[in-house]
Amino acid sequence: MKVVLQNLTKIFPSRNKKSGEEVIAVNDFSFTIPDGKLIGLLGPSGCGKSTTLYMISGLQKPTGGKLFFGEEDVTDLTPENRGVGLVFQNYALYPHMTVKQNILFPLQNLRGADKMTKEEMLERAYEAAKLVQIDDLMDRKPSELSGGQQQRVAIARALVKMPKVLLLDEPLSNLDARLRLQTREEIRRIQKETGITTIFVTHDQEEAMSISDMIVVMKKGVLQQIGKPQDVYDDPTNLFVAKFLGTPPINVFNGYVKGEKLYIGGTEKLEDGECVLETKGAPDGLVTVGIRPEGFIPDESGALVCRLNNVEVMGRDVSIVSTHAASANATVRSIVDADYKIAAGATVSFALKPHKVFIFDKETEKRIYFGDQKPVEIKEEN
Ligand code: ADP
Ligand code: MG
Repeated sequence: MKVVLQNLTKIFPSRNKKSGEEVIAVNDFSFTIPDGKLIGLLGPSGCGKSTTLYMISGLQKPTGGKLFFGEEDVTDLTPENRGVGLVFQNYALYPHMTVKQNILFPLQNLRGADKMTKEEMLERAYEAAKLVQIDDLMDRKPSELSGGQQQRVAIARALVKMPKVLLLDEPLSNLDARLRLQTREEIRRIQKETGITTIFVTHDQEEAMSISDMIVVMKKGVLQQIGKPQDVYDDPTNLFVAKFLGTPPINVFNGYVKGEKLYIGGTEKLEDGECVLETKGAPDGLVTVGIRPEGFIPDESGALVCRLNNVEVMGRDVSIVSTHAASANATVRSIVDADYKIAAGATVSFALKPHKVFIFDKETEKRIYFGDQKPVEIKEEN
């Protein structure tokens, strides 16, 4: 089922009548979620992810805009009539019911033409339980399950009505690190097996990048960028997106462009920086420079000279930690192939890979494209 958000907006009135301002939790969202895909809705806490999800589920009514499932306008439909399955961070299982009863519950409430016989319901419940691999735990109570198992029950309960759209709100947050990894792979498998259009909310960029067909990056209620994870990583549209994606994070420097050349450091007058790269097509002016950790090439004659702190060897890769006066971060982290032998010394010099260097307007923080860099096109699928 394709999901279309059209100028979707949610404004919460101020809680404090005297001084408080209203909160624009979701600001004029328009995008299409293709049928059968897994979309990661990504952004820092408070940026409006849950609100977006609740509007799609029908639990919250938009202040403005429309929502379509396929061609059908569902903006005014109740949650029960939308055919969505919802899973929350805190599982929200009924503690006094067994796993089986928890999974059966949504089916028992079906009325009219959808009403099922007891046998049909049981069959469906076991199908859903098998899918998430808890069919041998059906007679336990939630308190007798691990966190990961409880979350599987919650997913089975969301799947049992065969929803057209599956909505997951930070479903892995309460799990420990190892279980988080395992469960996210499970979710990916279940999504592929069922082909249900799924929206997965998380503040964890790595989680979103690893399982999504497409990611939607948000900041303070405003859509920043949408695309395949790798495309967004390779071509962030602004400084926020560049900083939000990637571990270790992107290295940020002050700099300027002058005469189609990029300088790091220097003054407001566009003088005294280190010339590090040709930036054909970029206009003169102050910029913020982002360099991915994998964008540095150790090179004795390289133009970017950093003070060397230490070198961490990590199997395949070497992580070089250094400092630079124009760096916005305390340290500059570069990751290079272990084949490079880094000579001990006070400094380390780097050449840069042009496609791993992004420049942003100092004021607007919008990307400035140079050379053969260009914005990624969003191709509408289906
Ligand atoms: P996220 O899920 O990305 O952390 P939310 O969608 O929960 O963010 O919240 C977005 C913004 O809307 C936040 O500033 C939050 O405080 C505000 N907000 C959320 N729900 C309500 C509500 N019921 N009443 C008032 N403000 C709310
Ligand atoms: Mg939330």
